[in-house]
Amino acid sequence: MTSNNQNIQDIPQKGFFGHPKGLFTLFFTEFWERFSYYGMRAILLFYMYYELSKGGLGIDQGTAASIMAVYGSLVYMSGIIGGWISDRLLGSARTTFYGGILIMFGHIVLSFPGSLTFLFISMALIIIGTGLLKPNVSNIVGDLYSKEDNRRDSGFSIFYMGINLGALIAPLIVGTIGQEYNFHLGFSLAAIGMFVGLIIFIFTKGKYLGPAGSTVPNPLSESEKKTVFKRFGIGAIIVILLGAITIPTGILTINGFTMIVSILGIIIPTCYFIVMYRSKKTTEVERSRLLAYIPMFIAAIMFWAIQEQGSIILARFADQRTDLSLAGFEIQSSWFQSLNPLFIVLLAPVFAWLWIRLGKSQPSTPKKFSFGLFFAGLSFLVMIVPAIINGTDTLVNPLWLVLSFFLVVIGELCLSPVGLSATTKLAPAAFSAQTMSLWFLSNASAQAINAQIVKLYSPDTEILYFGIIGGISILLGFILFAASKKIHVFMRGIN
Ligand code: GLU
Ligand code: ASP
Repeated sequence: MTSNNQNIQDIPQKGFFGHPKGLFTLFFTEFWERFSYYGMRAILLFYMYYELSKGGLGIDQGTAASIMAVYGSLVYMSGIIGGWISDRLLGSARTTFYGGILIMFGHIVLSFPGSLTFLFISMALIIIGTGLLKPNVSNIVGDLYSKEDNRRDSGFSIFYMGINLGALIAPLIVGTIGQEYNFHLGFSLAAIGMFVGLIIFIFTKGKYLGPAGSTVPNPLSESEKKTVFKRFGIGAIIVILLGAITIPTGILTINGFTMIVSILGIIIPTCYFIVMYRSKKTTEVERSRLLAYIPMFIAAIMFWAIQEQGSIILARFADQRTDLSLAGFEIQSSWFQSLNPLFIVLLAPVFAWLWIRLGKSQPSTPKKFSFGLFFAGLSFLVMIVPAIINGTDTLVNPLWLVLSFFLVVIGELCLSPVGLSATTKLAPAAFSAQTMSLWFLSNASAQAINAQIVKLYSPDTEILYFGIIGGISILLGFILFAASKKIHVFMRGIN
């Protein structure tokens, strides 16, 4: 993390519910960024597979699901670039700002009726923009507090609430307008959301953040800059040329591209671990901790694979397999996307209380991760019940989806908030600036794998689909639970 403790006295330390004023800026910037992201995702799948006559692009459903996953994967993978740019070139605050601009333009592109090309341009902008913004805005939260400040964890919890409040209202607003009126109007609301976030960021940053996020922790020297820009330029030209040759000639298809991302999703974290493990800067104790981190990272991949299918497979289930009239009232399929963040907002305080209440007798991090896997698995297993009872020709009661989202959130609260903190504690100090990106890589890998898996879902394969994926998650949960004592030893004193 880019902590800069010398300047901590220049950062206003009070002013937002007993927290540094800067938390206000970061809370609302991220609130609006997540509003735009999850609002867009709540209608994107439908926009892709709805027929042209219904305002969609008419893409085949399996391919549309796969694109959702590839997109989600790249959004989190690009965090590596965002981390690097902030670390070596711009500092977190400026990187966040440029990210927000790109995201806003990404949504603007979709605000106009257009073709598949528009969709891909929008995706490219949002992938890079989110890579710049997301890890950095979270990093600055860490910068607001000194290392010893015990408000730090609660600051992150408040920030996490901001994320989920944005994700909660977005489907209700962007989803409703997008589905009832017009998808493009929905996307333009996402753009407006990001615009509001940027305005808040620009106008409160100077006074509230002070120097937080303004330093470049490890700046490139002039000569390094030259080499880097040259390599970057050559790389960009190669990518553009490859695209210009392979796309029009049909060598690179959507499926081919999906496969490349899926492979990258496995190669990138593997290389990350090898580099960290072999680095001279990594100490003996840190190597042991890194080994302990690997099974948890794999568990996180399994967890996010299920959680992220909420906006793909469960969204499709909501749209096509669910009875959307409730007591004479028509509900929109996109509204189901509010269930995850709603349960997070309701239950996060309960979990915070529970962990404090349990104090020293609370489960270790690997155990909490195993609970995450059990509940994620259960959330899929319950989804086989309606098909077993009634087959797949009738519409299902919406409460099944509510139950599924509820279960995955119990798992999310066991895994996600502890996951980031475990990453900061277990990653070698020399790599600490990249911990945020490392944690997001678990989500990126999950969705890279999802890109291959989600194609396999259809009402015909429903029971097998939910059964096998849910079953694997529960099995992995058992294995992790059984190994948790051993893993804990490797963690060398960390909980
Ligand atoms: N859903 C959360 C967010 O959007 C967590 C994502 C993650 O940690 O992978 O911030
Ligand atoms: N719970 C997710 C996250 O923490 C939000 C979502 O999936 O809608 O932001």
